[in-house]
Amino acid sequence: MTTSVEGGAPGTAPLESRLEAVFESVADAVTVMDRNGRIRFANPAAAQLLGRSSANELIGLSGGELLAEYELLDTDGSPLPPDALPSRRALAGEASPERVVRFRRRGSLDDRWSLVRARLLSGRTADEDLVVSAFQDITSLKRSESRLRFLAEASAILAESVDYARTLQRVADTAVPELADWCVVDVLEWTHGISRVAIAHRDPAGLELANQVWSRWPPDPRRYGAVHEMLRRRSPVLIPDVTDDLLSDAAQDAEHLAVLRRLNMRSVLVVPLEARGEVLGALTLVQSESGRRLDEADVDLAVELGRRAGAAIDVARLVWEAQENARLREEFIAVASHDMRTPLAAVRGYAQLAQRHLEREEAPDGAALGRWLRDIDHAVDRLARLVSELLDASLVRADQQVPLQLGPTTLSQLVREVVERYEQLSDRHGFVVETPEPEPVGMWDAARLARVLDNLVGNAVKFSPDGGEVRLRTGQEGDRAFISVTDQGIGIPATDREMIFNPMYRGGNVDGVAGTGLGLAGSRRLVEMMGGSIQVASEVGRGSTFTVWLPVQPPSSGEASGI
Ligand code: ADP
Repeated sequence: MTTSVEGGAPGTAPLESRLEAVFESVADAVTVMDRNGRIRFANPAAAQLLGRSSANELIGLSGGELLAEYELLDTDGSPLPPDALPSRRALAGEASPERVVRFRRRGSLDDRWSLVRARLLSGRTADEDLVVSAFQDITSLKRSESRLRFLAEASAILAESVDYARTLQRVADTAVPELADWCVVDVLEWTHGISRVAIAHRDPAGLELANQVWSRWPPDPRRYGAVHEMLRRRSPVLIPDVTDDLLSDAAQDAEHLAVLRRLNMRSVLVVPLEARGEVLGALTLVQSESGRRLDEADVDLAVELGRRAGAAIDVARLVWEAQENARLREEFIAVASHDMRTPLAAVRGYAQLAQRHLEREEAPDGAALGRWLRDIDHAVDRLARLVSELLDASLVRADQQVPLQLGPTTLSQLVREVVERYEQLSDRHGFVVETPEPEPVGMWDAARLARVLDNLVGNAVKFSPDGGEVRLRTGQEGDRAFISVTDQGIGIPATDREMIFNPMYRGGNVDGVAGTGLGLAGSRRLVEMMGGSIQVASEVGRGSTFTVWLPVQPPSSGEASGI
């Protein structure tokens, strides 16, 4: 220490070295400055606070030099004039000034807070005056205060809207820049797996790059990915320091690796978006340019944000589903009443025709009567199908188990019965049935399986407007039996293949073909209730094959049972 402070009793160490020893052992950062603002003394805590490896590196630095390195902020984040610093105020004559000072290294967002107190040590002349400043680090206190405030604000923002898409974007927006430099929201969708739905970034160029990565290289579960890891573990995944090895593991090709490097990810934290005990998706926080780092202290806050965001997403999703259900119901009623009108009009037309013949006391000839009766039969058949579709579709929504009437069922017999009816209805299609020996027999609900088959064969006929062959096969592989229905019709576009099992979903290529979009949804539910599944393979313009797989259970006593 080079200052000349008076004092020191005989026989003891000089006052200055005693002071030095005291300051070195205190936890608070202490600096001593002269009137010109030069640092004359600093303890190790001050060196650490100001990013130096030893206190000696600070000696001789001027206030101006430090201000070039650091930005001074008021507690509300506005710039703080240097004259407001307690050291300057003490030099200006104020007794024991103190204030909370927020500061950060220029260009970084890693804010720190200190409660700064200053005292003037008057020298013999004004030139020898010194000012001692003590900095009590209150960063963690301030951080927890601002985290609580952040959570309260985030909850308020998330509660503002029940619009699903907007809520997802808000989740991402609330986290930036407060918690991270960028934030990504992924949700789990049962048809597509993980779907990246929102992204927010401090910097527009970074957002552009992140968006590019998102669309060109969607997350690949076969490569390393923190999101997949979090979903597997169902708990937060923290990567405090992203290494180049990690990027290489995650990259899908060389170009991807180059772009990942440009993203400059330093720290990553992925937490679950949770609601009602279920993981709905993932919230990913990334620190890049700001110089901040994510650590264990951030995990709890992020998990809490994930919970609140999960709840908001859950509400938005429920509202969306309710609206969607109402829309589907209305659409269904419109379609079903339209579809029912045609067969009803046919039945009424023939009834009126018969009535007129009766009034005129003339009997129709046998051939005409046969034609009328066949048309009435077709119309009633169509109505019956519509009613069954409606009933099966109501099963799709209701989550309760419906009692099945299980009994020994021979698949080939079912196939033959359904085909016989369609042979009468359509003379443009050829039906081919292939059944192996021994025939698959199992404990299934025959009436409901007949409805599924009826729907598949009905579709095969309906979606092969030019006729062609409809081939039905039954068989068994291991402990699973199958029925497949193959047509030579219009096929199903790849983008529709998973979706056609959703209620009211119809393919993009079926314009002009009557239908409700309910048949497959109901069929899938019925088959799943029997422990089976339905698969589809298709080629647009060439045809489709639907295969129903069923578990084979040895026929029990032959009695029908329910589950
Ligand atoms: P609907 O037949 O009333 O439209 P479904 O639920 O039975 O309802 O089928 C849903 C959609 O699946 C159909 O609209 C159609 O796009 C597609 N689809 C089903 N079966 C076939 C098939 N055999 N060939 C081509 N498309 C099919």
